[in-house]
Amino acid sequence: MKVYADNAATTSLGEVAFAAMKPYFTEVYGNPSSLHSAGQEAKEALERARNAVAQEIGALPSEITFTSGGSEADNQAIRSVAALGAKKGKKHIISTKFEHHAVLHTLEKLEKEGFEVTLLDVHENGIVTPEQVAEAIREDTCLVTIMYANNEIGTLQPIREIGAVCREKKVYFHTDAVQAVGHVPVNVKDDNIDLLSVSGHKFHGPKGIGFLYAKRGILLSNVIEGGAQERGKRAGTENIPAIVGMAAALTEANTNLSEKMAIVSKKRDRLIAGLSEIPHGALNGDREHRVPGTVNFCFEGIEGESLLLLLDDKGICASSGSACTSGSLDPSHVLLAIGRPHEVAHGSLRLSFDENMSDEAIEYLIESVKDVVSYLRNMSPVWRDLQAGKREYIL
Ligand SMILES: *Cc1c(COP(=O)(O)O)cnc(C)c1O
Repeated sequence: MKVYADNAATTSLGEVAFAAMKPYFTEVYGNPSSLHSAGQEAKEALERARNAVAQEIGALPSEITFTSGGSEADNQAIRSVAALGAKKGKKHIISTKFEHHAVLHTLEKLEKEGFEVTLLDVHENGIVTPEQVAEAIREDTCLVTIMYANNEIGTLQPIREIGAVCREKKVYFHTDAVQAVGHVPVNVKDDNIDLLSVSGHKFHGPKGIGFLYAKRGILLSNVIEGGAQERGKRAGTENIPAIVGMAAALTEANTNLSEKMAIVSKKRDRLIAGLSEIPHGALNGDREHRVPGTVNFCFEGIEGESLLLLLDDKGICASSGSACTSGSLDPSHVLLAIGRPHEVAHGSLRLSFDENMSDEAIEYLIESVKDVVSYLRNMSPVWRDLQAGKREYIL
């Protein structure tokens, strides 16, 4: 059986999105900046897509800037607000220890440029509270950036409440919503969000495209200099096929979203119940406050890498956490942030999927993970010591 369970890394391109894109490769290939009819036709498609994605998150079309993806949107959001803050002498930024590297590495750069960054601790359940944010905000804080849903463990943050705290204290609030948009309802107005990053390929859109929402009145700075595309805020000829495909994918993802969420949650609950039967393992992140389709477990006495390779042999594509860090031997910064010790954090497994995952595939996942975990434990000296009582179990 072949099972792709790594949607949090990337998804397949949806058929609807693919069909929507095709004419923009071969028929409507004009440059939207050209004045002739071929260009204007492309320009119309661009603006239709902008309207569509804006509507999906409750924003105005003029508040949307297309980018090359979630990483670029994160970079641009953070750099823009940092520049606005610096002008007023406000050089303090608040974030969390378990953000995506697109956020964390941008903040590290800003620290070298003289900004001060506070990274909030994450509770054991994978959640940061509005109280923590309120306590950390200072006179010189210009930005709070906290992800909507964590990409490794799937926990949802109390975004609306954190946004309310930021509004009250008059601090800009950015959220990396790459794992949330298209998976749970997101509305920038209801959720008190000033800036938000989205990536197309996490909801069956194409790769290499995303967008940044910035509330009216927030002046963005350029990450890429050049022509006057995107109101001068993001140079480069627009990737019309990708933009059209992303808009189609997002509209489709949000259609009947609550029904899909219920279906996916039921599959996830069965998966969690099945994997919980494995002794000395534990679900990472809060049981309730999570996106429907991401499950992450730690199993004691095994290496995540070996687990992944053996699952791959069984036709299962899974992840130990973030695709961006796989290949490195460091344990996940997310699992360390929620307090998992190194030896346990090494034995992690992330399975992520949507409504297209069959119930048979879920059963196959459970059975295969159980088999592989016990196979690896039988060969593990660490596991032998644990069984012999020479070491203490952590989980
Ligand atoms: C995938 C991901 C990104 C990066 O998006 P790209 O479009 O691949 O650049 C950023 N943040 C989170 C939370 C992600 O899951």
